[in-house]
Amino acid sequence: MGSNNTRLTGRVIFKGDPGYKEAIKNWNPYVDTFPLVFVFAQNACDVSNAIKWARENDVPLRVRGGRHALDKNLSVVKGGIVIDVSDMQKVHLDKKKGIATVQTGIHVGPLVKGLAREGFMAPFGDSPTVGIGGITTGGGFGVISRSIGLISDNLLALETVDAKGRILKANSTCNEDLLWASRGGGGGTFGYNTEYTFKVHRAPETATVFKIIWPWEQFETVFRAWQQWAPFVDERLGCFFEVLSRVNGLCHAEGLFFGSKPELIRLMEPLLSAGTPSSVVIETLFYPDCIDFLDPDEPIPGRSDQSTKFTSTWATNLWPEKPISVMKQFLEETTGTEAGFFFINWGGAISRLPKDKTAFFWRKPLFYSELNASWVDKSEEASNLALVERTRLLLKPYVVGSYVNVPDENIENFGSAYWGTNFERLRRVKAKYDPENVFNHPQSVPPLF
Ligand SMILES: Cc1cc2nc3c(=O)[nH]c(=O)nc-3n(C[C@H](O)[C@H](O)[C@H](O)COP(=O)(O)OP(=O)(O)OC[C@H]3O[C@@H](n4cnc5c(N)ncnc54)[C@H](O)[C@@H]3O)c2cc1C
Repeated sequence: MGSNNTRLTGRVIFKGDPGYKEAIKNWNPYVDTFPLVFVFAQNACDVSNAIKWARENDVPLRVRGGRHALDKNLSVVKGGIVIDVSDMQKVHLDKKKGIATVQTGIHVGPLVKGLAREGFMAPFGDSPTVGIGGITTGGGFGVISRSIGLISDNLLALETVDAKGRILKANSTCNEDLLWASRGGGGGTFGYNTEYTFKVHRAPETATVFKIIWPWEQFETVFRAWQQWAPFVDERLGCFFEVLSRVNGLCHAEGLFFGSKPELIRLMEPLLSAGTPSSVVIETLFYPDCIDFLDPDEPIPGRSDQSTKFTSTWATNLWPEKPISVMKQFLEETTGTEAGFFFINWGGAISRLPKDKTAFFWRKPLFYSELNASWVDKSEEASNLALVERTRLLLKPYVVGSYVNVPDENIENFGSAYWGTNFERLRRVKAKYDPENVFNHPQSVPPLF
């Protein structure tokens, strides 16, 4: 790599410097560790210098955006350098072309809310504090994805910094294999991204949002009704269903419909007549207010007060009684107040793209599912990790694949679980852009020559 004299540029915080204690805090305390240094890049050159510096000094490196990584050593690394893009938050909207060019440090909430105020929409998930840097690399879905696809489906181009510190552009005519891999191939692997260009869509003036709560004891009845209804309902309707642990007691569905309240009430009849909801809120609001209704503002970067262990998957068939009883057992046994099961309906625009069109593979399932256990006390960690793993294995016969943005380092064959038959092509793209596997983490794509 030449001489050892690259200097770190940007906002640099070494262990012991002021700001280090804040910098080490991620959304999930379970992933926190003690890096040697954080570089809060102000531009692509700072990212480039930090990559060169890491290689000259033989220090492990990671890139971080919104700090929401859900498993260990993905966007942080003990004793290493964390190249954090979160100071880079500029957005430029070209209304005529329907294109937004955004620096990768912005968080999903401020981005989509800002676009909505300008009359445009882009997909968003269930939390405003997630970083666009990471969520884009793995897919990125939410309640409007059945209408306009995944976040990565709307990615038209990017600027990234490669493992030699070169600033590259990727779009449909230049480095198109890198663009293909960046649309679902996972974070921190192909390049450290500094800018994304997204297609954005004209937003309707209004949409209809809903929140329904049921007594926790009814969750099995409601889940059965939800799974028979949500994947097949009008694709203008996105709906998640979440059941938290028995100690928490919340069982609710939320979502958005691009249509009127009376039409939504008609469409929702099978869900509304399941069990006896204790609260039903359905409102037609201006589109920007719909996002606030679903994702109220939270302090950024966001932090859970509990450590959490997640695992994720999809269902291509409706769940029979066995997995429902596995879910019940988990929810009764787990003691964390943030623990639970989460489902969202698939289909529509997500499923219309062929599975090799981008690196994101899992396009045909009926619904997505994830579960997580949570704890405060370190002494409860081992039992919660074991409970998640046991539940994952019990569910395995009924599900397919796993979502790279909700990763689980217990999954050994993570390549086929995350990317199915796209894995081998991803490995070849990796070999072309990072043959020495400089950008690696526990579940990054290894090069194939
Ligand atoms: C509370 C919560 C809610 C969530 N809700 C949803 C949801 O509704 N829908 C959904 O699809 N997902 C959701 N997720 C999962 C989310 O997509 C992932 O956690 C995502 O990886 C977070 O990205 P980040 O930038 O915030 O995290 P980080 O910890 O900063 O990074 C996560 C991964 O992305 C990589 N990465 C980050 N920035 C860059 C960059 N600039 N270039 C290259 N790689 C980068 C990192 O190296 C790391 O591998 C949620 C997660 C949480 C914690």
